[in-house]
Amino acid sequence: MTSTWHVLGSGSLGGLWAARLAAAGLPVELLLRDRQRLAEYRAAGGLTFERDGHCRQLALPAQPLDEPAPIRRLLLASKAYDAAAAARALRPRLAPGAEVILLQNGLGSQDAVAALLPQARCIFASSTEGAFRRRDFHVVFAGSGHTWLGTAPPTPPPGWLGELAQAGIPASWSDDILARLWRKLALNCAINPLTVLHDCRNGGLQAHAVEVAALCRELVELLTACGQAAATDGLQTEVERVIAATAANYSSMYQDVAAGRRTEIAYLLGHACREAQRRGLELPRLEDLARRLRAHLAARGLPQD
Ligand code: NAP
Repeated sequence: MTSTWHVLGSGSLGGLWAARLAAAGLPVELLLRDRQRLAEYRAAGGLTFERDGHCRQLALPAQPLDEPAPIRRLLLASKAYDAAAAARALRPRLAPGAEVILLQNGLGSQDAVAALLPQARCIFASSTEGAFRRRDFHVVFAGSGHTWLGTAPPTPPPGWLGELAQAGIPASWSDDILARLWRKLALNCAINPLTVLHDCRNGGLQAHAVEVAALCRELVELLTACGQAAATDGLQTEVERVIAATAANYSSMYQDVAAGRRTEIAYLLGHACREAQRRGLELPRLEDLARRLRAHLAARGLPQD
């Protein structure tokens, strides 16, 4: 018998997973902050899932975090800066050997959650799927992609991977999930902060190719020092390819800053700088980038972490 998919967060990725799992007939339970949020969810008539312009209203079961029922499988789909607090709140509910899938971008939050939940099997995820919230409890599937899942150190894949296939969630088990997360972090560090500082779409960075190349060189140095040499393969070429392929897009960090939302900088560029310092590496371009980005955020009244 399958375990219930407890999904924390009815936001973009949480909603995207919950909607597809439920549509495939799998048991799903949304975990919302508190009774007030639950009342708002019910008043909205459940979760609206929009795909290719079609909206579907899904009255998925939901409960507040402090419900007593045990949890065996948890999909933690918060932003990186909310993950540890959410894990702490759910700790008393996790059954021994529970599995916790961490959907956060960047690095740092996964280790913080794993340290809080020694009784759980923490599975890290790296996703290229795209979704956004049109409004509360209304999620739009914005871009197909793939999700890699794995543990560090590697362990055999769980039996429920087949449920993801059944739900049409493209996913694979990875024996080197840290390399995937580091690679994505490096791509993010080379592109997103610069789009904010130069106030441009991704394609605007083609006019700053020298700056991008210098950042890539430092990122290669950092990843190599972190034991992630394999994740540096062709990094600059891929950064340039992504910039060209997504030239018309605004990066996620750009969109967050433009909308006055908190960024995940602490788990992306901030994590890179912390790891460099910890290893005594001097990476002046990355440090300068972080300094400029923090000043930019501070000037707009946004958190610098
Ligand atoms: P999001 O739309 O902001 O959703 C986050 C959800 O977490 C919200 O529903 C929020 O609840 C909930 N949450 C936070 N703390 C909570 C708590 N203590 N209890 C209950 N719910 C809590 O974020 P997202 O875009 O899905 O991003 C999640 C992660 O996936 C991020 O690390 C992001 O970088 C990564 N990612 C996102 C995408 C994408 O396309 N969106 C793609 C790849 C990776 P409220 O609704 O109550 O605020």
